[in-house]
Amino acid sequence: MPSVISTDVLIVGAGVAGLWLNARLRRQGFSTVLVESASLGGGQSMKSQGIIHGGAKYALHGALTGASEAIADMPRRWREALAGDGELDLSGVRLLSEAHYLWSPGTIAGNLTSFFASKAVRGRVDQVKGDQLPPALQDKRFKGKVYRLAELVIDVPSLVQRLADLAGDGLLAGQKIEPLLEGGVLVGLKVDEREIRAQRIVLSAGAGTAALLQALGLSQPAMQRRPLHMIIAKGPSLKPLYAHCLGGGTKPRITVTTHPAADGQWVWYLGGDIAETDGVAREPAEQIATAQKELGQLLPWIDLSTVQWATLRVDRAEPLQTGLTRPDNAFLAEEGRLLVGWPTKLALAPDFADRVIASLEHDGIRPGPTSELPPLPKPPMGVPAWEQLLP
Ligand SMILES: Cc1cc2nc3c(=O)[nH]c(=O)nc-3n(C[C@H](O)[C@H](O)[C@H](O)COP(=O)(O)OP(=O)(O)OC[C@H]3O[C@@H](n4cnc5c(N)ncnc54)[C@H](O)[C@@H]3O)c2cc1C
Repeated sequence: MPSVISTDVLIVGAGVAGLWLNARLRRQGFSTVLVESASLGGGQSMKSQGIIHGGAKYALHGALTGASEAIADMPRRWREALAGDGELDLSGVRLLSEAHYLWSPGTIAGNLTSFFASKAVRGRVDQVKGDQLPPALQDKRFKGKVYRLAELVIDVPSLVQRLADLAGDGLLAGQKIEPLLEGGVLVGLKVDEREIRAQRIVLSAGAGTAALLQALGLSQPAMQRRPLHMIIAKGPSLKPLYAHCLGGGTKPRITVTTHPAADGQWVWYLGGDIAETDGVAREPAEQIATAQKELGQLLPWIDLSTVQWATLRVDRAEPLQTGLTRPDNAFLAEEGRLLVGWPTKLALAPDFADRVIASLEHDGIRPGPTSELPPLPKPPMGVPAWEQLLP
């Protein structure tokens, strides 16, 4: 008969939101159990581009209203954590780039004028030239303009590994999740027949949250999925590039990030407008051809003849929103002991944790008496998409 466990906070879903929250709570003395049904970080988190946004991109379409948005403070909070003196000790997590760049390939001055006039951007971007340019843009044929944004890019697999280390003995591989009720009130969850009682239960299961809510007999908060069709390129001719390439519109034409593959080669991971609506409608071969054409036009000096290609379809999971703007804050809803939410961005994991901690404080929830956890089956680590698709 599996043991009965009591914990302060039971978290379901070990993507960046659940892992970050778990580490924050443990640091504050709370006991936690973090349940994962597949692999650590293997949902959206390891499929993300790893950009710790400060909101500059959103100023392009005026969606960022100013410093009141949590996102503006995220680069600082992540930098402090990476340096080992922030809210979590993330020293050892690999920083892929000290900055993310904004790259305007031609003369789209109109777009950039309103961008630089925006309050959110002023004082936070510098133009770079010559040998300060990202390595992939250092060619005499390069004609565009490049601006350095005060945003960083992290290696998500090493982040997930570090957060898993900080989770100590509290990780639990679990598939079947049912409500644990007492007098009709939710007091915990049954995970693969193991009863786990908790003062608070947090659902941070990304795209899996809608089904979990259904299993608990709830329909709110409603979730939306935003499909993406990302492109992956790997080859010896690719050099580091972390940039939003601007097109004429309000969204980056392409967002390129560069990631280390296990065999030592660089992988370019391409998102932005190319991966959204039209990209989602394209078949993989068509999507690859579109990316090849774009890169051929934008970076004709890069030899793509030895590059291997793949595409990845993945949905972003977010709270249901009306209209097209995305929030630049994490989202959390509360219902009795249950807290449910989405960070909406990897960068906003600290904001998600803040919201849960504020709710605990508001309800007077404090660390209870601690008892040692029994040995629990551990979920495996997630694997980056390029290692699966282009081994
Ligand atoms: C292609 C792409 C690129 C992105 N790029 C960026 C970026 O550069 N910067 C940025 O800030 N954000 C980015 N994002 C957004 C970011 O990835 C997500 O907002 C963030 O990773 C969500 O974290 P999460 O922990 O909520 O979800 P997830 O990482 O999806 O984790 C949820 C976890 O819950 C688990 N789970 C699901 N159901 C259950 C269940 N029933 N029981 C137990 N566990 C369950 C899943 O297996 C998964 O491990 C990107 C997203 C995508 C898709």
